[in-house]
Amino acid sequence: MNKGRIIVLSGPSGVGKTTICKSILDRRPDIRYSISATSRQRRKDEVDGREYIFITEEQFRRWVDEGRFVEYAEVHGNLYGTPRTELEDKLNQGYNVLMDIDVQGAKRMMSLYPDGIYIFIIPPDISELQRRLLKRKTEQDETIRHRLANAQKELRYKNDFNYVIENRELEKTIQEVMKIIEDELGPVPKEHQGD
Ligand code: 5GP
Repeated sequence: MNKGRIIVLSGPSGVGKTTICKSILDRRPDIRYSISATSRQRRKDEVDGREYIFITEEQFRRWVDEGRFVEYAEVHGNLYGTPRTELEDKLNQGYNVLMDIDVQGAKRMMSLYPDGIYIFIIPPDISELQRRLLKRKTEQDETIRHRLANAQKELRYKNDFNYVIENRELEKTIQEVMKIIEDELGPVPKEHQGD
């Protein structure tokens, strides 16, 4: 069986990555999501082990020391990382693995997995991003300001990615991402069609 490939989605917080990831996973049974570990507080609608593996900062640092992360980064004041087993087990089982990680993590993955598919999603403009973050109502004002400042910084990295997509209209963006994935991976292989 062939080893899978990684697909990395990056881009500022609030740009729609979570929704895009869900659509990809609904449509491609050969793609599995890499569940990150984080020291951030769990949001009300999140389930431990589904969106993230929620651990304390102390535990996170222990995992770092034990070499359990392929990559990790501090994002908006919290720690996020990709557990090695989470990624490698799925790739070894022949699945392609989708990752929603920040630009620092994406850069690290680019050096480790140069044959990965790296997609950067950009917001039409910063005021639109602000509107979306406020609408989401999951963060405090201070956090939103922090996230917007970070967005400006993250946008500087976009040229390192294989593909840059502007998310003006979510449905259209999803179609564009699906097209990239189909061009890169081809149709869903027979052995994964029933997964
Ligand atoms: P949120 O707190 O909104 O769920 O995620 C904040 C940011 O952390 C997002 O931009 C997301 O892409 C990034 N992120 C999530 N998991 C990881 C990870 O495992 N590694 C890295 N480097 N970034 C991550």
